[in-house]
Amino acid sequence: MAYDSDNIFAKILRGEIPCEKLYEDDDTFVFMDIMPRADGHCLVIPKTPCRNMLDASPEQLAACLKTVQIVSHACLTAFDAEGITLQQFNEPAGGQEVYHLHFHILPRHEGVKLRPPGQMADFAVLKTHADKIRAALAG
Ligand code: AMP
Repeated sequence: MAYDSDNIFAKILRGEIPCEKLYEDDDTFVFMDIMPRADGHCLVIPKTPCRNMLDASPEQLAACLKTVQIVSHACLTAFDAEGITLQQFNEPAGGQEVYHLHFHILPRHEGVKLRPPGQMADFAVLKTHADKIRAALAG
């Protein structure tokens, strides 16, 4: 399957639609998921195009996972979390809905289930959560 440069994450990367940005480096970009399944649920994407893990280069995967680790530590601090769930979906049968490679970072607490998918965030709350992660990244 070909990469579609009109996917929503490509538009976020081009600044065509807004996002709650958390972090970027030369190769990756991180922002809040607008339908968070846990407080602090965020997404790590490569700045260069690929649909998912299946067509990504080793360099894209390595860059994303390096950033996943940095941002996961910030999420643990920001939410006093006890663990991180990392999710990554590939193609429709694999549960993927947006076709630009992304890794979900989900801060977890013992005994607390993920919320159901598809529930839009309160954007004021999303910003306070983003502020906490940004502060942890800065500290
Ligand atoms: P999936 O492709 O199944 O990993 O799911 C795509 C994820 O992108 C879902 O968790 C959505 O909530 C999230 N999402 C969709 N549109 C946006 C957006 N504009 N900004 C942030 N997250 C988004």
